[in-house]
Amino acid sequence: MERDKRIKIWVLWACLWPSSIYLLYRSLDPPLQVNIWEIGAFVILASIVALFPLRIGDNPVFFTHGIAFAAFLQYGLFVEIIISQVSLLFLLLKVRVDRTSSHRIPINFLMFLAISVLSAQVYYALGGEHAGEAVSSITDAIPIITYALSQIVLNQLSLKIITKIIYKQKIVWWDSGFVWDIATAGIVLPVGFVLYIVFLEFGISAMFFVGIPFIFISGMLMLFHNSNEINSYLKRTSKIGHELTGKLGVKDVLDLFVDRLSELLPLDYIYVYDVLSENQLKLIRFFDRSGVMNFSEVQMNRGEGVSRATWKKSGSFHYKKRAEWKHMTNSSTPENAESVLSVPVERNNEIVGIITIYSKKKRAFVQFQFMILRILSNYLGVAIDNARHYEQRKEESERCPLTGLYNYRYFENYLQDLFLQWETDDIKKPIALILLDIDHFKQVNDTYGHESGNEILCLLSERLRMVLSNRGVLARYGGEEFVILLPGYAAGQSINLAEEIKHAISSEPFYSHDHILRWEKVQEINVTASIGVAVYPDDCEEPLELIRHADRAMYVGAKQQGRNKVANYSQMNTNVQ
Ligand code: GH3
Ligand code: MG
Ligand code: MG
Repeated sequence: MERDKRIKIWVLWACLWPSSIYLLYRSLDPPLQVNIWEIGAFVILASIVALFPLRIGDNPVFFTHGIAFAAFLQYGLFVEIIISQVSLLFLLLKVRVDRTSSHRIPINFLMFLAISVLSAQVYYALGGEHAGEAVSSITDAIPIITYALSQIVLNQLSLKIITKIIYKQKIVWWDSGFVWDIATAGIVLPVGFVLYIVFLEFGISAMFFVGIPFIFISGMLMLFHNSNEINSYLKRTSKIGHELTGKLGVKDVLDLFVDRLSELLPLDYIYVYDVLSENQLKLIRFFDRSGVMNFSEVQMNRGEGVSRATWKKSGSFHYKKRAEWKHMTNSSTPENAESVLSVPVERNNEIVGIITIYSKKKRAFVQFQFMILRILSNYLGVAIDNARHYEQRKEESERCPLTGLYNYRYFENYLQDLFLQWETDDIKKPIALILLDIDHFKQVNDTYGHESGNEILCLLSERLRMVLSNRGVLARYGGEEFVILLPGYAAGQSINLAEEIKHAISSEPFYSHDHILRWEKVQEINVTASIGVAVYPDDCEEPLELIRHADRAMYVGAKQQGRNKVANYSQMNTNVQ
């Protein structure tokens, strides 16, 4: 929240809170006359119980209500206010509200005050009384139960209003916070009632009979909720693990990881590093929730920075505030970060990466979230390993091992996809295909040996790459035949390019070793090629026809016409007819 707004809330508190407390005190009729030791015992008990807070989403659930309830029945509104406000102070100390969310303190004090006053009005309106008179007949159940219910409803109502007005978030009326509020109230209010009854009977010793079991109940509820929460985190973590290992590309794995991690943990920044070499880390993914910072690539040497320290020490680290890791900051560390979790990504007992997450809040992460990050880092390691393997295999299956060009399989798939895309395109651009076959290549093999033939194929592939630069998609179609697919190229343009290629091949000889007679001798070999061109949709109706027609143009229009020629399918047809 912005500073201005926080200050306004504090000012509002300073205007309302002290004066309200004073007015409430002044309006006491008869004036307050209580045993200070009794009140002190209530305050101490409520403060101990406040040490077991529960946070469900953004909603705090309080066990102290039970004690305050007993005090209300016994002493009335003013003492109830003292107890609930003091225990609130302990609760806020326990959850350690930091400066950026300090506005929660005045909001909570005012909210508690309002709930106390309003529910007491309901109680009095229904004829409720205090001390021994509070429970003197069966009809007294009506104001007591209504008082308890109005506390629950008012608590939820004020939380939702604050969510809407101050945080400008959408209200969900029936959420897990509401359910927990009702569930805990169902336990703590009856216990509070018992406390009141026992107090009436036995005085201050009721604190031991009821108070101590009450502290245990609060602690157990908190543990139950925490283990429930850990359970739900583990379930989500396992789901993320399955999703991660199901991804085939490294980029997809990292995208998913950052996306899910940012939803799972209360973090502001994510850094994922890859271990490049003995002493180099490379940032391969970065996330800033506010979208302000951006790094495309950062490389670091081993030894400095939080991530580098994690790497060097081969351990996982959890820092709760900036002072603990300040000496390790560097140029890529977020300036306003406080809490840090940093864990290595391991494969086969070797560190292959580092994940470091930061939050702008102090003590933002709890211990089990640290464990969750370690589990996720294992999943990430496996998922990236699998994806890299898959990408490597895929790359190999798409390439010709001799020339490194795309192979027939890749080319055919590409062609099919291109045609599918073409069907949906609004503007229909032509697609040209050039097919090239080396002339008398068998002779090259026969004269200089098969290995020389291979060398020529590699050198020619290189020459084709140079001529084309980034124009079209080049593939080795088979044997000594090559194809070039040119999306957006019309007949004229593609024929010009084919002529350019023909010239690039025939104008300069290729140099290869003579593998048959003298290995060390470098041979100058002149090579030519016959080239056929066909264009879709002018020359054909479907993808494979484009290859067939270019092949026909190459054979009939170039080979049969004396080789070292470029032939265009449509022109060849008109010539033939
Ligand atoms: P033209 O196309 O001009 O009619 O004559 P050609 O000799 O090139 O035609 P043909 O189709 O008869 O022979 C193609 C030759 O290409 C046969 C084969 O030895 C050679 N060849 C095909 N693939 C490879 C390869 O990977 N390496 C080597 N060294 N030669 C290959
Ligand atoms: Mg051939
Ligand atoms: Mg040939």
